[in-house]
Amino acid sequence: MNTGLLLDPAYQEHDPGPGHPENPGRYAAVMNALEASGLLSKLKGIPSRLAEKPELQLCHPARYIDLVRREVEEDGLETLSTGDTDVCGKSHEIALRAVGGVLNAVDEVMSGRLTRAFCAVRPPGHHASAEKGMGFCLFNNIALGARHAQRKHGASKVAVVDWDVHHGNGTQDLFYEDGSVFFASTHQSPWYPFTGHAEETGKGKGAGATLNLPMAAGAGIQEFSKVFEERLLPALDAFKPDLILISAGFDSRIHDPLGRFRLTDGDFALLTRHLRGLADMHCGGRLVSVLEGGYNLDGLGSAVSAHVGALL
Ligand SMILES: [Zn+2]
Repeated sequence: MNTGLLLDPAYQEHDPGPGHPENPGRYAAVMNALEASGLLSKLKGIPSRLAEKPELQLCHPARYIDLVRREVEEDGLETLSTGDTDVCGKSHEIALRAVGGVLNAVDEVMSGRLTRAFCAVRPPGHHASAEKGMGFCLFNNIALGARHAQRKHGASKVAVVDWDVHHGNGTQDLFYEDGSVFFASTHQSPWYPFTGHAEETGKGKGAGATLNLPMAAGAGIQEFSKVFEERLLPALDAFKPDLILISAGFDSRIHDPLGRFRLTDGDFALLTRHLRGLADMHCGGRLVSVLEGGYNLDGLGSAVSAHVGALL
């Protein structure tokens, strides 16, 4: 087995409340679809764990980490004060468990015990910047995974590809002036969070290491293939990453309630094969994919199955 799967039923315990699109049912939808498709038995399980504070501090300052814990566990807030992220009493703990699970997956892949991994985490992370949880996100799972690969495993260059229908503003902010982490994003524009313009390309040491590929509502595989082949893949090829991470949002799938893109399950498999090919070329195959959005439960399950099938 060379492909891993991070799953933990505890990820259902983060409950933003009745009627919320980012609800615990998403976890069951993913798990049931992977089981029904026969993929579950072909994947090596990766355990979750709670992330430690110094690990969170790779991207978030202590005062923000403390604020999240206090607001969730002591003040009992229903929404994080920094932005539109609804929480319950368990949300801080489960967010730590999402980060820790992603770090475990990075450990497995960077140590060579696994080649690729998919992390079925909740809550998502790509809208969280250093000091601002928003857009259903508390801590930036994938950004922390990138930094962990660098600090613990000596990866010098990491690429993050974000195909969620929403721009990964938090990830972009965290690495905007960095240069050692390349951030590439396809997203609907104009759309929440209204960042990710093509002119945003990085700054200082990070100049040129941010690639935004905004697309109009209605975009499907024709538009995606064009920007992947003409812009995204050549940019990553030139960057030569040591590890590729995917912010795998499936709200860019057709029929998602929070997006207007038209990607099908087969299209996600195609995009996955593109990135897998690039990982084979530059990183010894090393690729870790982390769940972000995806709010049509049936569609989420089938798209994740297609994605994971292409990782295998
Ligand atoms: Zn999204």
